[in-house]
Amino acid sequence: MNNNVYVYKCNKYDETLIDQAYDEILVKNGLLDFVKEGMKIGIKVNLVGNFHTDKAATTHPLLVARLCKLLIDRGAIVTIGDSPGGLFTESVLKSVYKGTGMHLCEEVGAKLNYDVSTSKIKVDKQVVKTLDVSNWLLDQDVLINFSKLKSHGMMALSASVKNMFGVVPGVLKPEYHYRYPSHIDFANMLIDLNEVFECKLNLVDGIIGMEGNGPTQGDPRLVGVILASSTPYPLDVVCAKIIGLDIDNVYTITESIKRGKTTTFDEIILNESIDDVIICDFKNILPGKSMEFSEKFKGPIGKVINPIIAKVLTVKPKVKKKECIGCKKCANICPVKAIVMKNKKPIIDRTKCIRCFCCQEFCPVGAMKAHKNLIVKVLSKSK
Ligand code: SF4
Ligand code: SF4
Repeated sequence: MNNNVYVYKCNKYDETLIDQAYDEILVKNGLLDFVKEGMKIGIKVNLVGNFHTDKAATTHPLLVARLCKLLIDRGAIVTIGDSPGGLFTESVLKSVYKGTGMHLCEEVGAKLNYDVSTSKIKVDKQVVKTLDVSNWLLDQDVLINFSKLKSHGMMALSASVKNMFGVVPGVLKPEYHYRYPSHIDFANMLIDLNEVFECKLNLVDGIIGMEGNGPTQGDPRLVGVILASSTPYPLDVVCAKIIGLDIDNVYTITESIKRGKTTTFDEIILNESIDDVIICDFKNILPGKSMEFSEKFKGPIGKVINPIIAKVLTVKPKVKKKECIGCKKCANICPVKAIVMKNKKPIIDRTKCIRCFCCQEFCPVGAMKAHKNLIVKVLSKSK
């Protein structure tokens, strides 16, 4: 198990600082030694949607462009891509690249992917047996995973492991929520994707992260780090530590540990201490909190009481009616059709909802929130 994580503290998106960071954490530690002349390298960034860099929802283009420069200088042929949520078409990709500033990568000689063809492949992983993938990824010799550090409604943390969900074409993503409705199965599906598309290098843009109503409608928060590792799993453990997120609330981490891919934070080997960048009051969403308490009582009493506790403590999607513009996107994206529109406002059928938070992720105005009731808020603070 490789448990090395390299951290570089950096407070702004500045070309000179980024070049220094890459020299320190990538070049000096041999993390780019795999690059060969003529090698086709795909960088899977986080382009969850058409968001300006100021929103901190997507991987910052300057970080990606400076990495492209290093790879191209070593003779690689570099392509950048992702499958944003929703339609996966050339025109959607064009507008997302424009909105997120990714054209900067073309200035250093990298290509942006416009291939929207997809394939169904057979895999034999823990939970995934067949997988729908974007073909451009299959065309690369090597992949690099470049994620963004964010809070996440469903999975608590959006960083390295979660980023690989973007190998699934956008329009098919809700189907994966339907196929893997439990958080644990969904986490294992994500780990399976990371195994199928094993990235040689994994980086996290944690200079400005997103807190609160992530992964698309939260607030930017200065975190001040760039992180790198040759595997994604310990990177997420370090990210959770930095944003004060208990790993028990992050199923991708607990399942990675069970599968022997990483360890708890204490056994991770860091190039330097991160004590001075840990943020204790980072606004996280804790979907795991309900599970922790919902299995508290055993036997027949537990059978009656545990579901009630779970119901009370579970973080749920909830619409802020005043902010809702009635666009119906949440109802259209919901994989289990739990949302109907009434008087141009969404009504959620709680008996159907699987808490995938697709509605929250794709609400264009942030009106759908990951809602914690008062008890959960108090418990979150006390942790
Ligand atoms: S209502 Fe929202 S969180 Fe619930 S299943 Fe539908 S999209 Fe997912
Ligand atoms: S996606 Fe957001 S704005 Fe649109 S109907 Fe749903 S809650 Fe309202």
